[in-house]
Amino acid sequence: MTGIDDLPVRDELRGKSPYGAPQLDVPVRLNTNENPYPLPEALVERITERVREAARDLNRYPDRDAVELRTRLAAYLTDTSGYEVGLANVWAANGSNEVIQQLLQTFGGPGRTAIGFEPSYSMHGLIARGTGTGWISGPRHEDFTIDLPAAEKAVAEHRPDVVFITTPNNPTGSAVPAETVLALYEAAQAAKPSMVIVDEAYIEFSHGASLLPLLEGRPNLVVSRTMSKAFGAAGLRLGYLAAHPAVVDAVQLVRLPYHLSAVTQATALAALEHTGTLLGYVEQLKTERDRLVSELLAAGYEVTASDANFVQFGRFEDAHAMWREILDRGVLVRDNGVPGWLRVTAGTPEENDAFLDAVREIKKEQG
Ligand code: PMP
Repeated sequence: MTGIDDLPVRDELRGKSPYGAPQLDVPVRLNTNENPYPLPEALVERITERVREAARDLNRYPDRDAVELRTRLAAYLTDTSGYEVGLANVWAANGSNEVIQQLLQTFGGPGRTAIGFEPSYSMHGLIARGTGTGWISGPRHEDFTIDLPAAEKAVAEHRPDVVFITTPNNPTGSAVPAETVLALYEAAQAAKPSMVIVDEAYIEFSHGASLLPLLEGRPNLVVSRTMSKAFGAAGLRLGYLAAHPAVVDAVQLVRLPYHLSAVTQATALAALEHTGTLLGYVEQLKTERDRLVSELLAAGYEVTASDANFVQFGRFEDAHAMWREILDRGVLVRDNGVPGWLRVTAGTPEENDAFLDAVREIKKEQG
């Protein structure tokens, strides 16, 4: 039987595993930080209308520069952060994973390196590898906050071309203070001109504000965002970034022509028309997230502070065995490979009750 390693694949891909959050058919799925609320019917109708219109022109390539969509995304960012960004500051792609890939193709690549502070979003390292960018795993404190002196030292020592900061961090949940991001930006620029990518995939769920205002006067800073979480549209595949216009110009060098289909652009525009309703769900999820934190604590578990739509909880001698125990009770959570810890996504109140019942029952059984 021919396997991957029998093929002439690139050396850095040999023996590696693809991204693989299990997609199991379980009654309660709280494992991939999706929004549990289906899109409201009025929005489904609007998507249908917009897509029908787009369908009439599918014989033509889509707007390569996604001008209308980027203009609307810029307005959303300006409205929600108070920091003004325009069309020239915004770029969009198929999920923020593709945004990150385009950034690494532009600013990383063979002979270059990127650093992230782990545990963090595993795709940063995987996309780095896929683009031939060397990956450096930076340090965190025991409580999962970024160990700033150690991080500054790592940046000075390795002189990476790209620095990733995920805030709120996945899978640990907490937001990174602006001062930490600023200090790392300064450290990175002192080492060599390098790009600092602030991954704000979960920022709408945070107790704190977006770091978009830090873009002012910092052309080597990028903020990446997604419609997969707060907009409840993981199936849409729409991510975007805000940065200096020169960054938007630079990623044009690597983006595939017409990468964002007319159907995607039409659907995203419809979703943006319903921003108010969708952000209402975010408020409900924040309440549920806080309830998960307090109920997990009350049940005798440890949690790390969460600014996201998920909660990291522990500690377990064998986190994978605990993951199985919870799964046996019909609830799928995530084992991110962080020793001693698991992660649960905030679902609907009913889903969260099912999860809390499961972990309370396990606690009782284990005494
Ligand atoms: N960044 C972070 C921190 C994430 O957790 C995720 C999704 N899990 C993404 C980016 C990618 O999301 P998408 O490609 O759906 O925009």
